[in-house]
Amino acid sequence: MSNMYPEYEGKTINFITGGCPHGCLYCYVKSFRFPLLKKRYSGKQKLDEAAFKKNLGKNNLWFVCSCNDINTIDIKWEVRILNHLRDSYPDNTYLIQSKYPPRFSVIDDSEFPPNTILGITAETDKDYDLSKAPQPADRLIDFTYLDTKFPKMISIEPIMDFDLVRFVELIRRVHPSYVSIGADSKSHNLTEPDADKTKELISELKAFTEVRIKPNMKRLIGDNIIERNDEYTCTCYDKPRRVLKWKFWEVTFQ
Ligand code: SF4
Repeated sequence: MSNMYPEYEGKTINFITGGCPHGCLYCYVKSFRFPLLKKRYSGKQKLDEAAFKKNLGKNNLWFVCSCNDINTIDIKWEVRILNHLRDSYPDNTYLIQSKYPPRFSVIDDSEFPPNTILGITAETDKDYDLSKAPQPADRLIDFTYLDTKFPKMISIEPIMDFDLVRFVELIRRVHPSYVSIGADSKSHNLTEPDADKTKELISELKAFTEVRIKPNMKRLIGDNIIERNDEYTCTCYDKPRRVLKWKFWEVTFQ
């Protein structure tokens, strides 16, 4: 999923080719501007055996299956991927992000790599019918009830207009370790919140979790964001050696 977002600076590893069944309107992978990507991620889903041979190193942050939704593939494939990461490269951190969180609850925590962050995308709490995935509010509710030892994150990207009170409450109930917020980068004419409302959301979220702002949010909230020069140290797995090269921007309000 993150290849939709060029400002993402973590590493991505894709074990699946073929089309993502969610078919989100704003999907970067489907863009005519990237024909090779579009070809690779169209048609029937298949395991890409070459990905299993890739050296993933140590102390890296990997976003797994960024061009698809790992929770939509054959569950045997998903467990194989997770076990491969767990057994062959246990010293990395893996972000496993989905728009179909019920799948997380049928895979035991022991199948995942030790440093896993489980994530969902919830662009809003409203139903804009831009995707075949479960509606964002349903994703948030399912994620709330997920019983797991792993930290949870929520990606609000691409952010769309929301009901402030409802959206904040749905997110609060998940108890996320952090929330990242990004904007539509490709002019899909999404219904976006205005700057004041977006800043209000950020303030409300900051009251109970960490909020990471992606650079493209500058378009929505202007000069309120400044670049962080430091590399981000993941608080989910807060070990000195685990400095993760995943750069976000800080938000400041004048
Ligand atoms: S879930 Fe991500 S990869 Fe799948 S269609 Fe939506 S944006 Fe594209």
